[in-house]
Amino acid sequence: MSFQNPVFIPGPTNMPEEIRKSIYMPTIDHRSPLFGEILHPALAGVKKVLKSETAEIFVFPSTGTGGWETALTNTLSAGDKVLAARNGMFSHRWIDMCNRHCLDVQVVEATWGEGLPADRYEEILTADKGHEIKVVLATHNETATGVKSDIAAVRRALNAAGHPALLFVDGVSSIASMDFRMDEWGVDIAVTGSQKGFMLPAGLAIVAFSPNAMGAVETAKLPRTFFDIRDMAAGYANNAYPYTPAVGLLNGLKLATEMLLDEGLESVFARHHRIAEGIRRGVVAWGLNLCAASPDVYSDTVSAIRTPEGFNATDIVSHAADKYGVAYGVGLGEVAGKVFRIGHLGQLTDVLALSGIATAEMVMVDLGIDIELGSGVAAAQDFYRNQDVAAVKVAA
Ligand SMILES: *Cc1c(COP(=O)(O)O)cnc(C)c1O
Repeated sequence: MSFQNPVFIPGPTNMPEEIRKSIYMPTIDHRSPLFGEILHPALAGVKKVLKSETAEIFVFPSTGTGGWETALTNTLSAGDKVLAARNGMFSHRWIDMCNRHCLDVQVVEATWGEGLPADRYEEILTADKGHEIKVVLATHNETATGVKSDIAAVRRALNAAGHPALLFVDGVSSIASMDFRMDEWGVDIAVTGSQKGFMLPAGLAIVAFSPNAMGAVETAKLPRTFFDIRDMAAGYANNAYPYTPAVGLLNGLKLATEMLLDEGLESVFARHHRIAEGIRRGVVAWGLNLCAASPDVYSDTVSAIRTPEGFNATDIVSHAADKYGVAYGVGLGEVAGKVFRIGHLGQLTDVLALSGIATAEMVMVDLGIDIELGSGVAAAQDFYRNQDVAAVKVAA
């Protein structure tokens, strides 16, 4: 396996060299003003990336999954009703976590490859006259299928129904790579992790609470200790954690937010969109289809590509690793063996993306799929070279 090649899995992502260096730091006292000089700018930076003026940010030594648990356990009690849709493996896992916490989940089944059905949410919320539903879950970007959903539309559904349920959004594979507007969309809890858009190793759960979500914390009865945001808030007030923080990762998070804001959020989003579009042009040139059903749901951070009927898509991932030392993502759950995924988030450039398209072509030709070498690369090259990237600063 090569450490020189970029990875094309949808997280953990490729890391900028400066971020790697920032994590490797000497031990400091983690209950000290010096630690506060790392912690507080990191929290403030995350808040800016989320486009929020009012959210409180909590960062746990954990992963995105711990962020889901932070959201549920700090705001809900056993038996509480939750509304969620299942359109892929990640929305499925959050629903599974709700069930394990004895929440009463109403699941809307959606086709894998389609976005969240905001219209169905609206019907169900409108019918819930007694306001039994406490929380609506939404996965912004389904990493399993390469599908983005319209969170503003979910907020509109809540408003149209005049329903007070809180809106919790899994933004693990969208935040810091795709536009996310916590305040404008009325998101009550946003969840992400360190190893996707923030370009860090795994190890941090990053969770943002709106004032409304903070209001649910005292009445929530689900047990919580490690993920209790009240203990975390008390720690932060003293430049500390309730336990030992991952200082190096937090230092990396501080730098990651600085880099993202320095590049400019809109430039970061435009770069991801451009890279993704080049890859999509390549997929069209191969004569293959995306799992994502229509352009309005195409993800700018991951493309799940359907392989021809009867072909095991996982072979592409194994062969790419064995022969070329390049990592792609396998299909998960319902689409296991039917798709392979090209992750294109984090520190990526047009040039790196071309190597991912080129390698996928070699792999598919090796395995006997009927595509022409160079066809996808040419389509992406044609797209990239005609983009006005001078206006958009390319990340280091
Ligand atoms: C990666 C991912 C998760 C899980 O995050 P972990 O950090 O692996 O716990 C959750 N949701 C989505 C959409 C993801 O892409």
